[in-house]
Amino acid sequence: MELPFSSPPRYEPAVNCGAPGEAHWFVFRGDDLAVEMGPLHAPSDDPRVKARPAWARLPLQKNHNWLGSSTLRTLYLGCLDGRQCWAAELADGAAAPAGTAWAGLRALYSVLEDAHFALAGRALQLVAWDRTHQYCGRCGTPTEAKREERARICPKCKLTAYPRLAPAVMALVHRENGGKRELLLGRSPHFPAGMYSALAGFVEPGESLEQCLEREVHEEVGVRVANIRYFASQPWPFPHSLMIAFVAEWSGGEIAPQAGEIEDAKWFDVLQLPKLPSRISIARRLIDAVCQELVERSNEQN
Ligand SMILES: [Zn+2]
Repeated sequence: MELPFSSPPRYEPAVNCGAPGEAHWFVFRGDDLAVEMGPLHAPSDDPRVKARPAWARLPLQKNHNWLGSSTLRTLYLGCLDGRQCWAAELADGAAAPAGTAWAGLRALYSVLEDAHFALAGRALQLVAWDRTHQYCGRCGTPTEAKREERARICPKCKLTAYPRLAPAVMALVHRENGGKRELLLGRSPHFPAGMYSALAGFVEPGESLEQCLEREVHEEVGVRVANIRYFASQPWPFPHSLMIAFVAEWSGGEIAPQAGEIEDAKWFDVLQLPKLPSRISIARRLIDAVCQELVERSNEQN
């Protein structure tokens, strides 16, 4: 299963293709990407998704000069299909480079070519990492990019900083209740109105993924789970997560939403689900796959 933001085929991060031809440019200002694009459609009702263009493509440029004077940083991303790929960040308030306009990255899902969308997620993370690792975390000396690998090193104390990832566990809990198949879904206060999703939380130091799942589910909704099963994982570049999704069976406890974290949580019949996250996220793939599995299992038994 290829999930949005997973590395595309034919992409080689450590290769400098060196071809003299044109390069793909991933130019960011915050979470906005500079693209050549068609007219904008009305935005979706998810406030995190900006207006969606009818079509969009990456600009191809031969050199760095086209970016202009508000460039904060440029990074080499690797080689895709024989073309160099570069990431850049422009300053807050900068105009989009000539021939392009700013578009929110989420709104470019299924508009931009899949491979380019995936690399845009990688570019966004690397740009943010580069921005926040300009100084040594131990002695405060300005850091330097390492030539032989993706890292920044302190010339004084040699502390090395690698791109940062925050692993997070997602859990879809299900149960059978009087012949009905049910999913435990919750909503956090920042979700769009009416939307529910699987539970999720960041892994703490010293935890296995399974321990994280058990703790998160118990903290967030007060129930216990068993038979944890791996589903899939997805890089999530807002700002640097790796989401690792699991399915688990309810083994006990009544739902008690955690104040401040979970606005509401309920058991939903798989045949009567609420509004769900969009297909850009692994949450939706996980819910769809488990629903299908439970409905098939139900049909086999009847
Ligand atoms: Zn240092």
